[in-house]
Amino acid sequence: MSTYDVAVIGSGPGGYVAAIRCAQLGMKTAIIEKYSTLGGTCLNVGCIPSKALLDSSHHYEDALNHFEEHGIDIPGDVKLNFKKMIERKAGVVDQNVKGIAFLMDKNKIDVYEGLGSFKDATHIEIASEKETQTIEAKNIIIATGSKPGSLPFIEIDKERIITSTEALSLSEVPKHMIVIGGGVIGLELGQVYRRLGADVSVVEYMDRILPTMDKAQSKELTKVMKKQGVKFYTSHKVSEVTRKGKEVTVTATDKKDKEVTFTGDYCLVSVGRRPFTEGLKAENAGVKINERGQVEVNEHLQTNVKNIYAIGDVVKGAMLAHKAEEEGVFVAETLAGQKPHINYNLIPGVVYTWPEVASVGKTEEQLKEEGVAFKSGQFPMRALGRSRASGDTDGFVKILCDKETDEILGVHMVGARVADLITEAVTAMEYRASAEDIARMSHAHPTYGEAMKEAALAATDNRPIHM
Ligand code: FAD
Ligand code: NAD
Repeated sequence: MSTYDVAVIGSGPGGYVAAIRCAQLGMKTAIIEKYSTLGGTCLNVGCIPSKALLDSSHHYEDALNHFEEHGIDIPGDVKLNFKKMIERKAGVVDQNVKGIAFLMDKNKIDVYEGLGSFKDATHIEIASEKETQTIEAKNIIIATGSKPGSLPFIEIDKERIITSTEALSLSEVPKHMIVIGGGVIGLELGQVYRRLGADVSVVEYMDRILPTMDKAQSKELTKVMKKQGVKFYTSHKVSEVTRKGKEVTVTATDKKDKEVTFTGDYCLVSVGRRPFTEGLKAENAGVKINERGQVEVNEHLQTNVKNIYAIGDVVKGAMLAHKAEEEGVFVAETLAGQKPHINYNLIPGVVYTWPEVASVGKTEEQLKEEGVAFKSGQFPMRALGRSRASGDTDGFVKILCDKETDEILGVHMVGARVADLITEAVTAMEYRASAEDIARMSHAHPTYGEAMKEAALAATDNRPIHM
């Protein structure tokens, strides 16, 4: 039987990063993945394929609607080759998953393909179609991730009533896609299909889309996506989803308790994801799973069994790839006797619509609820030379800082490339910068990043230059 210092179950961004860091730190490491490709949800059916389709559909929309204003005439009609778009996405996924296999090899990590299940706290059985084998490991990291969630009365048929997984590989562009849930997946994939010509209706239970982000961001993105033709039905509680042939009907009640029905040819259910531990047989090792289905961990990401740790979507906290990665590194370094640290307040959140939406730290609503005295400074993208040059004038940067000390407490952005811009805010907040610190730093001109400096000037003592 092969023995290891560490065995990682699951090869998503949590698991594969944990395995690499363990190997870097000199531990003999194995990784177990039930699918034939590595990379988990993120690389196979999540972050990467959704961003590939967002980019491709963005190019299509630009060619269709915006090339002309830049003085680019296309002889003949712009035509969509959806099959090719999906094939390109598959190619991007393929490159990425092969990249992980290369990294496993490079770091001398043993890869096992098969479903991993606990025999006891130090032995894992790995079952594949070919064989069943058992390995032994001193320490085990559970990184089994998550699966799409649903509502109890919805039957996901994977054809017309679908989750993000199927929405990333459709064979046709829907005529009318009804999206249940105006969160990250609903908005990103809703925008993809709207750009490709579908009617898109987003039915959201809360009174605004992106209900956990700053209210100003929800408002701005609603405005822009409405202009793009997406229809929003907030404060709508879905009660039934039925299918007859190619037609799907979604029934909901609005805030006045009036019944509303939507008919379309596809219904995307995007109401959140649930932690995944099926087949893991955690009970054989005595590992506690809580009532939400998460593997229960302490502040060291250690389960109730001292040599077993858990990370990523399968534990509490934001279901984000970079959060899973940080946790993978954290556990590896803990096992090596180091004292790592994660500041969960500074894990950024990004929605890759266009304009993009990005956040870090506390929202205005949270600060109010916590009774923190704060100042706010906001700068519109439309006032930037860079935004006018590219034609991306929607959005803003909003900085919230402590009223007394000027320390930055939250940064919330909507606009072109803010997914990349948010890193400046994370860096500033990690170093506990004040708004004035940012205001006094040179920001290259012309860049979208100048909105950060201007918002900082506005927050620190209301003196933006270009507004
Ligand atoms: P996962 O990536 O879910 O990986 C878990 C792995 O464990 C899987 O490969 C699974 O097959 C394997 N596994 C499970 N049980 C076993 C077992 N018993 N034996 C062997 N293997 C097992 N996050 C972002 O930060 N940015 C984004 O842009 C983004 N976009 C997304 C878009 C979509 C459509 C979706 C669905 C998600 C997106 N996410 C995004 C979320 C991100 O994918 C997850 O947060 C991330 O993948 C979690 O990583 P993980 O390692 O915890 O788990
Ligand atoms: P989400 O939590 O982002 O959004 C779910 C939405 O559904 C919420 O707005 C919620 O209020 C709504 N909802 C819940 N129950 C409802 C009901 N009965 N009727 C109508 N609406 C309802 O979840 P998601 O969009 O499914 O994404 C799942 C996870 O994947 C998220 O945790 C997210 O972090 C991650 N993800 C991240 C990215 C990214 O980082 N760009 C992209 C996609 C997914």
